[in-house]
Amino acid sequence: MERKELLYEGRDKKVYATDDPEKLIVSYKDDAIAQNGKKKGTIRGKGVINNRITNVLMQLLEKQGIPTHFVQQLDERETVVRKARMIPLKVIVRNIVAGSLSTRVGQPEGTRLKSTILEYRYKDDVLGDPLINQYHAFALEICTPEELATIDRYALRANGILKECLQELDITLVDFKLEFGRLSDGTIVLADEISPDTSRFWDTRTGEKLDKDRFRRDLGGTEDAYQEVLNRLIGSM
Ligand code: 5GP
Repeated sequence: MERKELLYEGRDKKVYATDDPEKLIVSYKDDAIAQNGKKKGTIRGKGVINNRITNVLMQLLEKQGIPTHFVQQLDERETVVRKARMIPLKVIVRNIVAGSLSTRVGQPEGTRLKSTILEYRYKDDVLGDPLINQYHAFALEICTPEELATIDRYALRANGILKECLQELDITLVDFKLEFGRLSDGTIVLADEISPDTSRFWDTRTGEKLDKDRFRRDLGGTEDAYQEVLNRLIGSM
């Protein structure tokens, strides 16, 4: 697979064209950004760790019947993925109150939820990714009702699979964010990443945060926490 021109550079990743029109190469960076760009830094080794963690989890979900964009890891930082037209939605799944939900509903972090919450944010940096609901998504033609039904089904199934897998590693899946895309034939696939950058992982025994909140809240030890998640995942295979 030959890497061609840079198509897009985001906060955490670069995306390159390849000699295959249906495939892209994603390259994970060490840059870290939080608070919609207000907090910037570098988490040494983050790109390498998130590439590995994402690929392990994507393959696990694919095996359990959730179509993903994953094709093949190329090297430490780079992965071949299927080209998809991204749907500008952040789909957030929550099992426990944390982060913005804690502020929004005035419940302390760590509060158990009676049932799983699904949230959608409209992906737009300038607007700060506003929270929307399904009516907005259809009316604004972000996706169709059929597509959203598929997305919801995949997101909830992914939650079940990931929660169970992580629980065995003494990691509590508090919440996480997914993004989806359409292949050229319209098939919905899970894309982007699933990593400590995009999820909240708490050590089940100690309650220690093993995710990007360490960076967001200046707790230190961010890289070690990410590495710990990867070690537990690899140790389980
Ligand atoms: P919250 O809404 O509490 O800030 O985030 C909920 C979950 O979604 C967290 O696991 C968080 O990491 C993830 N998430 C939501 N939006 C973003 C985003 O813009 N970037 C990243 N890296 N994660 C996000």
